[in-house]
Amino acid sequence: MTKHIFVTGGVVSSLGKGLTAASVALLLKRRGYSVKLQKLDPYLNVDPGTMSPYQHGEVYVTVDGAETDLDLGHYERFTDVDCTQESNYTTGRIYSNVIQREREGGYLGKTVQVIPHIVDEIKKGIKSLDADDVDIVITEIGGTVGDIESLPFLEAIRELRQEIGPENGIFMHVTLVPYIKAAGELKTKPSQQSVSLLRSIGIIPDILICRCEHSLEEEHKAKLALFCNVDRDLIIEEKDVANTIYEVPLDLAKQDVDVYLIEKLGLHVSSLDMSDWEAMVDTLVNPENGEVEIAVVGKYISLQDSYKSIYESLTHGGIANSVKVNVRMIESEEIERKSAEELLKGVDGVLVPGGFGDRGIEGKIAAVKFARENKIPYFGICLGMQCAVIEFARNVCGMEGANSAEFDPETKYPVIDLMEEQKKITNMGGTMRLGHWDCQVQKDTKAYAAYDEIDIKERHRHRYEFNDELKGKLQEHGLIISGISPESGLTEIVEMKPEDHPHFVACQFHPEFQSRPLKAHPLFKEFIKASMGV
Ligand code: GLN
Repeated sequence: MTKHIFVTGGVVSSLGKGLTAASVALLLKRRGYSVKLQKLDPYLNVDPGTMSPYQHGEVYVTVDGAETDLDLGHYERFTDVDCTQESNYTTGRIYSNVIQREREGGYLGKTVQVIPHIVDEIKKGIKSLDADDVDIVITEIGGTVGDIESLPFLEAIRELRQEIGPENGIFMHVTLVPYIKAAGELKTKPSQQSVSLLRSIGIIPDILICRCEHSLEEEHKAKLALFCNVDRDLIIEEKDVANTIYEVPLDLAKQDVDVYLIEKLGLHVSSLDMSDWEAMVDTLVNPENGEVEIAVVGKYISLQDSYKSIYESLTHGGIANSVKVNVRMIESEEIERKSAEELLKGVDGVLVPGGFGDRGIEGKIAAVKFARENKIPYFGICLGMQCAVIEFARNVCGMEGANSAEFDPETKYPVIDLMEEQKKITNMGGTMRLGHWDCQVQKDTKAYAAYDEIDIKERHRHRYEFNDELKGKLQEHGLIISGISPESGLTEIVEMKPEDHPHFVACQFHPEFQSRPLKAHPLFKEFIKASMGV
């Protein structure tokens, strides 16, 4: 039977519940259990696909094409277990399922209500991950206890745990123990209050994960145990990490969180080996090969979470090359106001990530031009590939005014365009190429040197494509098509010849969703290597 761990958050948002859930999952996996993770988000959007990154940060894409919360990125990076459509449910998705069923007459004339119908639909979502080969499902409830929106989700986990019993379900509450400078003290009262809120809706946490800046003393733990009704051993400290988020599982393992959880779930505790993870953290903290500086030229730079997986993947590329990666974050519109020369001078590599809409596009194209002309390693991702193709068409092939039809529908040279079938669809929601697509890497290319295999699968999230009809002219001028979709013939990777540029590689997909700390994505690994001048 699949067992469940329910993760709630108290006191404030941004406590790192997702990281905690991911870290616990990693430890349980390393103890030999198959673990799946899931996030329940109490907002009304059906998924975050249509939200601005300013609202939500990055949209993380799963292999099966779900557009999801960025916490799923932590889940996959820590556990290396693929998430799916079932890994992220929002209030909007739950309601939309219930309303659709109501319209179809599925409730047989009953009055449809939050309790039981919405709550039942949430329970169905949680149980959708139960399977013979899944030992433990960890479900993170977004938001903070006390929010009106999260109530149906909390009721659902309360009911579910009642149904499956305490030996099969655990409540883990992540809370804040703030340090009050003026008093020089850690305060447990906010956590007590948040647990009391949980208790008022029938949930008594089994384990408390206490986020804090300073270590908890014995007296704090005793107080929390007594007033929150939690075993003293299950008051766990999660102090701010010194260097990297990848230290979190190691810190939690030192306190045997995983052992307590496994015992509480009545499972067998086998040994834990984290030596490879420790070595990875050590390389990240003490790299052997100095540092490189990478410019990331984007449109949502001011919000760190907008390019979360990109920054993490650059870090992975650094680990793989034992080098520290410093990121110079550049707002593409800033390049339009000043110049690429002024803002990019001195960087070792330039990366243009994905994006939508025309704001800042010319700044990105100027960044590509700067990298190409100055022979600085360039890595274009999705929109970053489209900008590379536009720049190459305009400035190498002389196709004046070349553009993507997304930004200039009247352009004479639509080097990036919608496919014919997509032009006919008016509902934009239905036109994205999402999730895994096969790609064939062409031999004797930089892409092949990176992947060392021909058949790969990468994740997509875009509408526009490299325009096959104009491909000939770009190839004549030296652009190499190094990755092709076997199904459609669409161009997936382009690059410049080694004699023309030391490292100019761009892909239509999003490799950042498949990079892991112990297994950097090959394209990131090679980009960092090139940026080191190796
Ligand atoms: N806006 C471009 C498209 O829709 C690129 C999307 C992206 O970078 N994810 O094709």
